[in-house]
Amino acid sequence: MIHGSLASVESDSWQSLLASSITDPRTLLERLNLDPALLGPAMLASADFALRVPEPYLARMQPGDVHDPLLRQVLPVGEELLAQPGYQLDPLGEQQTNARPGIIHKYHGRLLLIVSGGCAINCRYCFRRHFPYEDNNLSTAEWQQALDYIRSDTSLSEVIYSGGDPLAANDRRLAWLTREIADIKHIRRLRIHTRLPVVIPQRVTGGLIDALCATRLPVTMVLHCNHANEIDQHLGAAIQRLRAAGMTLLNQSVLLKGVNDQLQQQLELSEKLGDHGVLPYYLHVLDHVKGAQHFHVDDQQAQRLVGQMLSKLPGFLVPRLVRETAGCAGKSPLPVELIE
Ligand code: SF4
Repeated sequence: MIHGSLASVESDSWQSLLASSITDPRTLLERLNLDPALLGPAMLASADFALRVPEPYLARMQPGDVHDPLLRQVLPVGEELLAQPGYQLDPLGEQQTNARPGIIHKYHGRLLLIVSGGCAINCRYCFRRHFPYEDNNLSTAEWQQALDYIRSDTSLSEVIYSGGDPLAANDRRLAWLTREIADIKHIRRLRIHTRLPVVIPQRVTGGLIDALCATRLPVTMVLHCNHANEIDQHLGAAIQRLRAAGMTLLNQSVLLKGVNDQLQQQLELSEKLGDHGVLPYYLHVLDHVKGAQHFHVDDQQAQRLVGQMLSKLPGFLVPRLVRETAGCAGKSPLPVELIE
């Protein structure tokens, strides 16, 4: 492959960035010159769901600003430990649809493969923050069984790499898996849901592109970017490489109080995604996962926000406002009307 000799150097680089991520709340606060009084709650909340922030993501935060929209997504806070009626460990009931280790089969015609249980960043609002990833680390035999499951269900036409973050897996694993899936005749498309290129753009190596794009399957990558400040020149360059490889690029985000719940923030995110040729796909209302209530935005405000976006942006830059509900075979769109 044309990228062969570069691949290992680039690969070492992203792997060392992954390994050197900040996991100690004290380090995070010190690096950003933040009030040490934040440490106590951060330690308590991170005992429930660990802190993890990679350096390239930290570099996009504003030192001294506790309200920085990127910091808010990763900083463990005391509010996470308050009683949160209606907020659950598994808000989407995924443990019922965990058909076998490594597979979540909840939609018609497509299924999710848990390619990696690891993430490059721990997002405090994550609906899988309590997911039992340890039960989904597959042995070689279990990978074969997961592939057999896909082979035997001819109603499937799409495989979605999910996680954790599927791009936390190494290129060799991804290349092998993608070849195996491409050999299954009834699979027509591959989709990858990932936040890794956003938080460590160096992950987008020639080796990764070869691993994903070397088969007959058309590849769609759905990035997970919540705020325009997440899109810097490094992510821009990574997106350019992905597009040059022929991938379709979409973005999904989660509507988060204090991060992206203002009209200007959503407009800027859509415009910046559009600048880079990435189409806003979904804007999710928050899943009611235990520990995330402080991010909640009510439905009316969400609908008003997207209604206002419709009057300011071309339709293709307005994401669909959706909710995911346990037991439903797809995401439900929330009604939105144009607001002048
Ligand atoms: S990267 Fe995705 S799966 Fe991982 S913690 Fe963030 S939202 Fe959850």
